[in-house]
Amino acid sequence: MVEFLPKENKCIMIQIPITVIEGDGIGPEITAAALQVLEAAVAKAYSGQRNLVWEFVPAGGQALQSGSDPLPPDTLQSIRTNKITLKGPLTTPVGGGFSSLNVRLRQELDLYVCLRPVKSIAGLPSPLCQAGELDVVVFRENSEDLYTGIEFPADSPSNEKFLSIFAKEFPREFQKIPISREVGLGLKPISREGSRRFIRAAIRWALEHQRRKLTLVHKGNIMKYTEGAFLDWAYQVAETEFTQTCFTQRQYKMIAEKESRTEADKARARAEAEGRLQVNDLIADVTFEQAILQPRTFDVIATTNLNGDYLSDAFAALIGGVGISPSANLNPELGIGIFEANHGSADDLVGKDCANPCSLILSGAMLLDFIHWSEAANLVRYALQHAIASKQVTFDLARLIPDAAVLGTHAFTQAILATR
Ligand code: NAD
Repeated sequence: MVEFLPKENKCIMIQIPITVIEGDGIGPEITAAALQVLEAAVAKAYSGQRNLVWEFVPAGGQALQSGSDPLPPDTLQSIRTNKITLKGPLTTPVGGGFSSLNVRLRQELDLYVCLRPVKSIAGLPSPLCQAGELDVVVFRENSEDLYTGIEFPADSPSNEKFLSIFAKEFPREFQKIPISREVGLGLKPISREGSRRFIRAAIRWALEHQRRKLTLVHKGNIMKYTEGAFLDWAYQVAETEFTQTCFTQRQYKMIAEKESRTEADKARARAEAEGRLQVNDLIADVTFEQAILQPRTFDVIATTNLNGDYLSDAFAALIGGVGISPSANLNPELGIGIFEANHGSADDLVGKDCANPCSLILSGAMLLDFIHWSEAANLVRYALQHAIASKQVTFDLARLIPDAAVLGTHAFTQAILATR
């Protein structure tokens, strides 16, 4: 942070440098929109006393065009130095080519929390009948699980070597692999410390934001030593490190078994009266079912990487889709955050001036909250809601709002900026 302290200390000018990655596909279009809205909100909230200074760096297609690594060292350095980044979507080749830059960024910077709030916007009806007003926050573990990219392609020498060691050392498990050498393999590491720090971050956030319930979503019934272990470690953290502030479903069951259901009900009622965070768990497939049937029963969700990726998009669909839901990749201890659009590079929309910039704009509002510029963050959300309530929206949202006027990216951004 750069602070200018003029003589007499009468006014303090604060400038914060923000790394900007425009991204691929529609990235530059939605980034231009988001920067305009954030600048306007900061100017209005702080009358020129505070400023965001954009530092544009290349990644993905832009970096490849200049012949460098798709994630150049200078780009990483800028993110490390500034700590805060606003990022458009980056394309990932499927089935070959370079590995996902989004995953690389998260791993290089150890951004182990992916935070995805899903909150209904007034005037934007849910595509699902009777979804009601939603306010769910998905915490997705962001550094482990199948996303570590430890994969062995079928018919490759690495696969052959891996399978031969595996067959020798673990003959019983090896029998379970169907067509031995023609199978692609992926490893799913989930660690104790990785799970513990993630759950700690999720519980701290839930407590700080006065949320009432945190649901641990897992597939521990099938993957016992990864998803099941995640659940066990998560409960341990809640029960041993947050003894005065959490009450878990596991504690409820224990009391019910040792004493009686009535005593367990009483203990839960006491915990509720004390305002403790209720921590329960749900299997991933049931969570998807409940997300459609009773989405409002959820409050905060904390889950493993792959589950979180699927589930956050499913919840986003309930409030209008990935075009409207924001996303942040965080390391709370290091204070590093990459705030990005929840969607991809939408190559079908490039250059048509029709992409919805809301996801990146709302991610920008999360960025402002992260640096404690909440007055500006609230102005961003207010202006965006106002534009939506006045039924002037991009084509994807217009499909959901009766009699809405369809605006292009540029005109929609102007409608947001016009809110006073
Ligand atoms: P996508 O999100 O780009 O597109 C899915 C659908 O949503 C398309 O029909 C698209 O037109 C629509 N859409 C997306 N963003 C929109 C917007 N802002 N306004 C209106 N409609 C929008 O998903 P995809 O096609 O699966 O992925 C394209 C590329 O993006 C892939 O290379 C993928 O790996 C990458 N991707 C990157 C990120 C990221 O940078 N974090 C996230 C997801 C996908």
